[in-house]
Amino acid sequence: MSYPAPYAANPNQSLGRQISEDASETRNAFQRDRDRIIHSTAFRRLEYKTQVFVNHEGDLFRTRLTHSLEVAQMARGIARTLNLHEDLTEAIALAHDLGHTPFGHAGQDALNACMRDFGGFEHNLQSLRVVEKLELRYADFDGLNLTFEVREGILKHCSIKNAKLLGDVGQRFLDKTSPSLEAQLTNFADEIAYNNHDIDDGLRSGLITIEQLSEVSLFADNLAQVKAKYPKLEQRRLIHETVRRMINTLMVDLCTQSAKNIAQQQPKSIADIRQLPQLISFSPEIAEQNQKLKQFLRNNLYHHYKVNRMSAKAARIVQELFHAFYENVGLLPNEFQTYAETDKARAVADYIAGMTDRFAIREHRKLFTVEEYL
Ligand code: MG
Repeated sequence: MSYPAPYAANPNQSLGRQISEDASETRNAFQRDRDRIIHSTAFRRLEYKTQVFVNHEGDLFRTRLTHSLEVAQMARGIARTLNLHEDLTEAIALAHDLGHTPFGHAGQDALNACMRDFGGFEHNLQSLRVVEKLELRYADFDGLNLTFEVREGILKHCSIKNAKLLGDVGQRFLDKTSPSLEAQLTNFADEIAYNNHDIDDGLRSGLITIEQLSEVSLFADNLAQVKAKYPKLEQRRLIHETVRRMINTLMVDLCTQSAKNIAQQQPKSIADIRQLPQLISFSPEIAEQNQKLKQFLRNNLYHHYKVNRMSAKAARIVQELFHAFYENVGLLPNEFQTYAETDKARAVADYIAGMTDRFAIREHRKLFTVEEYL
């Protein structure tokens, strides 16, 4: 099989940028997009945004930055195995979480509630806003002026109502067609990355235990293999050896099943891919095991009372910031005050969404604690 496959995305046949630009002399269009993403402010902020654990809770936990790097690495691996375009998957992976609020899902839910009467807030849509509008670095355009294929991949899901407002990248949600295989596989890489690193972080934090995880066959089966091969292994290595085997099980299954799906459907071009049902998938057995793993994490980690306590605090911070700024736009930095003249609620939401965890905590302190200045 030649690389890339005829149904892979092709930077020379890209559906283009919103504002046309001359081609780069050294890089294809998707490489260039990846470079723009890495140079963006929003990308650097990922370092201080929460995945599950708030940034200050420990230096060893994943942040959105290390998560995005893990997703990019897995996505490239899958793309290479399936002869798809690695540069495109890398760009999508590195950009996929740019729109996350501080404090992970707790922050997003709180901001969404604040924005209920103003069109809501959704992190996936926000990632698109970041690359289309909010990064202000280039002389000729707002945002990063990325190719259609990267923007399509960033917008993983979208309500019909929002799709109607989005133009080209919204269209597939109205037509019920599929995105590129590169976009499809990056979603799976995201899922494989977070399920497994959340197990690792959850065990390290002590919020979940190996004993509890014995109910998850994906974990238990791989743990048994490691124990059989290395009966005296210390705990830290035991966990890592188990988690890496879980990742491998999922990655191999995804590549094998997806290759089968592709062989069955015989797509000839990316246009065929867009008309076919999504071809990247786990086998039914592994999909079920993966579902059980997610369920376990939901019940035992994401809703652990200690996580709930931090989430409740995070929600309070976001709500209080939102209301303080919304009631008095004079508290916003100057450029956001100007923006607030045209759309007050959205300006406040964009300002808060851009904050890192620690910036939001500091900003909250500055606004609500008399002893803090500035
Ligand atoms: Mg992610």
